[in-house]
Amino acid sequence: MTTNPNDQVHIRDLSFQLLYSEAMVRERVNALGAALTETHKNLNPLFISILSGAFVFASDLIRAFDGDCEIGFVKLSSYKGTRSSGDVQTVMGLEKDLKGRHIVVVEDIVDTGRTLHFFHNHLQEQGPASITTVAFLRKPSAIEFPVPVEYVGFDIENKFVVGYGLDYDGLGRNIPGVYQLIEE
Ligand code: 5GP
Repeated sequence: MTTNPNDQVHIRDLSFQLLYSEAMVRERVNALGAALTETHKNLNPLFISILSGAFVFASDLIRAFDGDCEIGFVKLSSYKGTRSSGDVQTVMGLEKDLKGRHIVVVEDIVDTGRTLHFFHNHLQEQGPASITTVAFLRKPSAIEFPVPVEYVGFDIENKFVVGYGLDYDGLGRNIPGVYQLIEE
């Protein structure tokens, strides 16, 4: 991974242009945390972060939440390279009892919505008191599976992005801002 002064990063064979700087991301995530504090402050919500992409967002979001909360992680997968592979699998599950809990699902990016659609149904079967979904990014024109997403960081074009937890072929998760693929 290399960065240059034109606000571009290069990962393997691809180049990406800055979309949201670290400061813009921080401001937006803090606003999402404040909004969640308003609605969930006294509910001891259980944040469930979908690994791997959402772990950076989740760690900032819970620190922007002012109140008691817990966090758990679930590993699902539906993506290979830069195109959705079509199927979702639960690789690593949650051990906590979700019955009667206020769940906040933390997702990195909603593309087709397949992942969230699957996960939302999975959660609902376990009788939580409420499910609220927070997605850092969403690609509205890519949606195929309508899922309720109550809070969205940024709506973006249907282009591949990296950074802030999102990878390209395993790399780029540690980039503090968000970068969009430059299509040749
Ligand atoms: P969906 O199930 O909504 O089609 O896809 C969601 C998952 O695909 C995300 O959690 C993320 O892991 C991956 N994904 C979708 N779009 C992008 C993207 O632009 N960049 C990266 N790095 N991953 C993406």
